[in-house]
Amino acid sequence: MALMTGEQYIESIRKMNMQIYMFGEKIENAVDNPILRPSLNSVRATYDLAQMPEYEDLMTATSSITGEIINRFTNIHQSTDDLIKKVKMQRLMGQKTASCFQRCVGMDAFNAVYSTAYEIDKAHGTKYFENFVEYMKYVQENDLTVDGAMTDPKGDRSLSPSKQSDPDLYLRVVERREDGVVVRGAKAHQTGITNSHEVLVMPTIAMSPEDKDYAIAFSVPVDTEGIIIIVGRQSCDTRKLEGSDIDVGNSEFGGMEALVVFDDVFVPNERIFLNGETEFAGVLVERFAGYHRQSYGGCKVGVGDVLIGAAALMADYNGVQKASHIKDKLIEMIHLNETLYSCGIACSAEGHKTESGNYLIDLLLANVCKQNITRFPYEIARLAEDIAGGLMVTAPSEKDLRDPKIGPYIEKYLVGIEGVSVENRLRVLRLIENLTLGTAAVGYRTESMHGAGSPQAQRIMISRQGNLNAKKELAKSIAKVNE
Ligand code: SF4
Ligand code: FE
Repeated sequence: MALMTGEQYIESIRKMNMQIYMFGEKIENAVDNPILRPSLNSVRATYDLAQMPEYEDLMTATSSITGEIINRFTNIHQSTDDLIKKVKMQRLMGQKTASCFQRCVGMDAFNAVYSTAYEIDKAHGTKYFENFVEYMKYVQENDLTVDGAMTDPKGDRSLSPSKQSDPDLYLRVVERREDGVVVRGAKAHQTGITNSHEVLVMPTIAMSPEDKDYAIAFSVPVDTEGIIIIVGRQSCDTRKLEGSDIDVGNSEFGGMEALVVFDDVFVPNERIFLNGETEFAGVLVERFAGYHRQSYGGCKVGVGDVLIGAAALMADYNGVQKASHIKDKLIEMIHLNETLYSCGIACSAEGHKTESGNYLIDLLLANVCKQNITRFPYEIARLAEDIAGGLMVTAPSEKDLRDPKIGPYIEKYLVGIEGVSVENRLRVLRLIENLTLGTAAVGYRTESMHGAGSPQAQRIMISRQGNLNAKKELAKSIAKVNE
C-alpha cells in the first residue's frame, strides 16, 4: 500500500492510542473532536489530492528507495525539479485548505536527516544512514504522516542545553541501554502531532561536546508510552463547538499545535539517527530550517491566494471593485504574494545535490524567502482588513441571522450590492476574520513570523551566507582600489 486513501488515513489515526490533553481533559477520541477534526481534515487532504489524476504530477513521486509511486510528502528530493514541485504542491494545498496542512514538517525533516545521517556515518563509521533508509522505506510503504519535532522549550536562552537549571529544558538522553536509549524533555509548537503516525525528533541548536546527551535524533510512534500531548489554544477555537459553519469562517479545515512531553521514552537503536555527534547538530538544524523556510514560499502563498480572493469578493459584494484604490490594493497583495512564491521557486531552482544524493535548496535564498514571509503576509492581511471593512469584526452571529425576529433586521441592514445574499457576505467576512484573527491566523500570521525560525534566525543565516567579502572585492575591482 504505497498510497493511502483519505478514509484509510483517518482510520489509521483512529487506531492509535495517543495521550492527548486539551482544556484540562484527556481527549479519548481526537479524531471526532470538533476542535481537532478540521486539522485532521487538512492532513487528510494530502491523501485525497494524491488520489486525483489532475494532481498526480505534484502530489506523487517515484521513490528513490522502493521504486514505487509514493506521496510527495514522503519523498526524498532527487532533483531541483522535485524541489520546485514540492513548493507547487504546497501552494496547491494552501489553496485547497486555507490552513496549515501540517505534513510538510515531516517531509522537511526526512530530507535534512537523510543527508546529515550520511555525512555522520562517513565521519564516524556509524550506521545512522542505514537506519534512516530502512525507516524511510517503512514511512513510504505505509504512506505515513510524520511530525518533525525540533523546537525545545529552551528555558534561559542565554544558556546552552547542559547549563540550564533544569536539565530537561532541552530534550536529552537520560539512560543508555544495550538496545537503545531513554529520552526526556519536550518539544514545543508541534504542528499536526495529533494527526501524525510518527514523531521524528531532532536537536534544536548547534551544540558543543559538553551537550553530547542533547545531540539526539530519532523517530518513534506518537502513541509510544511516555509521550504526552498538550494541545495549544487558538484564537476563537471554541467557536467550533457552537455548530455554526458561517461563524468559524473555514468549517472544513484547520491546523493544530501542541506542547509534546517525552517523559522517559524508550527509543530502540534502529530508530536512532544521531546520538552524541554534537558537531552535526548544527548542520541538521540548518538544513531542516532551510527546507522549512522554502516550504513557506509555497504554503503561505496558497493561503494568501484564498485571502486575496476573499478580499476581492468583498470588494465586489460592497460595490467598490471599480474604485482605483481598491484595485491598487489588490494588485499590491498579488505582488507581495507572488514575490514570496518567486523566493520559494528560486531557492528550489538553485538547489544542489548533497553527498547522500538528495537535493538541498539554496540556503541563502531559502532564508531570504522566509525573511520576506515574516513581513508580507502581515501586509497582505492588513490590506485584506482594509478592503473587508469593519463589519469583519462587528458582524452578528449566524444564530441572529437565523432568528425569526432579529434575522430580518440583519438581512435588511447588512446587505451590500443587489443580488448578493447577506449570508454570502457574512461567509466571506468570516473567512477573512478566520485567516487574519481567528484559528487560521496561527498558520497565516504568527507562524509566518516564528515558524521555521524567528526573523533573527534568518538574518544570522543571511549574514553567514551573504558573502560580503566577495562583494567588497567586486567594488574594489570596479573602483580600481589597490590595497
Ligand atoms: Fe506545511 Fe506551511 Fe504548515 Fe509548515 S506551516 S507544516 S510548510 S503548511
Ligand atoms: Fe510551520
